[in-house]
Amino acid sequence: MTSLCCIECGRAARVFSGAVACARCGGLLDPVRDDARLVKTRAATWRALVARRASSADEIDRSGVWTFREWVLPELGAKDVVTLGEGRTPLVRGPAIAPKVELWVKQCGQQPTGSFKDLGMTVLVSAARAIARRRRLDALVCASTGDTSAALAAYGARAGLPVVVLLPKGKVSPAQLLQPLAHGAHVVEIDGDFDACMRVVRELGARAGILLANSKNPLRLLGQATVAFEIARDLGWRAPDVVVVPSGNLGNVAAMHSGFSLLRSLRLIDRLPRLVAAQVAAADPLHRARARGYATLEPMTAGETLATAIRIGDPVSFPRARRALVESGGTTTSVDEDALKHGMAALDAHGLLSCPQTGAAFAGARRLAQDGTIRRGERVVVVSTASGLKFVEAKAAVQTNAPLAAPARLGAVLEVLGLPRAGVA
Ligand SMILES: *Cc1c(COP(=O)(O)O)cnc(C)c1O
Ligand SMILES: [Zn+2]
Repeated sequence: MTSLCCIECGRAARVFSGAVACARCGGLLDPVRDDARLVKTRAATWRALVARRASSADEIDRSGVWTFREWVLPELGAKDVVTLGEGRTPLVRGPAIAPKVELWVKQCGQQPTGSFKDLGMTVLVSAARAIARRRRLDALVCASTGDTSAALAAYGARAGLPVVVLLPKGKVSPAQLLQPLAHGAHVVEIDGDFDACMRVVRELGARAGILLANSKNPLRLLGQATVAFEIARDLGWRAPDVVVVPSGNLGNVAAMHSGFSLLRSLRLIDRLPRLVAAQVAAADPLHRARARGYATLEPMTAGETLATAIRIGDPVSFPRARRALVESGGTTTSVDEDALKHGMAALDAHGLLSCPQTGAAFAGARRLAQDGTIRRGERVVVVSTASGLKFVEAKAAVQTNAPLAAPARLGAVLEVLGLPRAGVA
């Protein structure tokens, strides 16, 4: 059975208890899979099972999360699964970051609500149905920089469960504000930043009948770990050398580590990729903590940045991320707004409309290739966390290409394009 285990003192909690913190010491809970049972199945059997489900006629089999259900949450009954067809995102070649470095982009933004948050939310909301049979459940709540709330609202609507979201006023994109409203969630705009929303929602989440849906909740991480499964599978069941993850609250980089670790236990890959938590200078408390050997995380007040989805000064999952980076031999990066814009433009120019967070991660990868942390011959995956289409206003503000204008006449169009009038084929 899957259980929840305190990362500080080891105390266990049941997976459908709805617990999001240790009852003894308040520490973060980690999902712990039943590895002893899973390793009894041979790697070849797992590979065949996963391949078969991809072409199944059953929508649960085809979900990119539930296709891996034995590794995600085997105790969840099929009738509780709430799916919107998440996962199954493309792994595509990206622009070069250095000679002889193979760069791939994992397009996690190509999702029902436009971000990787759907992967965790399908698990949390499905589990919420199981939790609701065991205890009172009136609402699912989250604080958000815009993507968690969109995902929670969509999956909550699908499950018929009430949703409350707290957003930092003016700090999420118009698309991100529209999404929870469209799905019928109760949206509260808070006069403050994400960290302020998080402080309120922690207290709200501790009340009877409320389930916290932030990535502090370990159920989210179980679903997000499937990004690691898909990357390894799409590389022919091989681990890349490095995986770069745009990082804010630090749940996702921890989920990635948990996913790759499981694959190694199951002998589906032979080593762990080095994980890189990519931050922006305006909100890089983990990057600063690395300079102190990760001894402590000093919360900072996040500054202005285009990367609003990772604009977090006091990340909840620091202890989880620290372990992921130390155990995988990984590192952190922090880039300024200029580098972020160049990163975004490089991906855009390659046909991969990038969100600001992914632009920062790409710029971080490029920097690591320049300083030798990423070496020649290595295979690198940049995780693209959201669709660029959620961030059109931010992208438009830094766009250098502009439309030309012309009256509806061929001659005029040729003229603005600088093409000769003669020369009909
Ligand atoms: C949530 C989010 C992140 C950060 O993930 P964490 O788990 O909070 O570190 C990065 N990019 C986008 C687009 C996000 O929505
Ligand atoms: Zn504890």
